[in-house]
Amino acid sequence: MPLYEYTCHDCHVTFDILRPMSQADAPIECTHCHGSNTIRAISLFAAHSLDELGGTQSLSGGNGGCATCGSPSSCSTCGIA
Ligand SMILES: [Zn+2]
Repeated sequence: MPLYEYTCHDCHVTFDILRPMSQADAPIECTHCHGSNTIRAISLFAAHSLDELGGTQSLSGGNGGCATCGSPSSCSTCGIA
């Protein structure tokens, strides 16, 4: 089951949830404030798959990190825009 990342617009907490792909964009309750004002961010499952398949062409040099903003460590802000 894919791991999806969601961000809450009310308390700005980011949380990861394992759920079926068919429910990826279904509304989900914030794990912090239990509000419903949440949005799906980057799929970590897809991000890891892309890293494994195309590591030699990674924008950050193949050492992981965020391919969107180039941050050397995991980035939880990209994809929210
Ligand atoms: Zn919240």
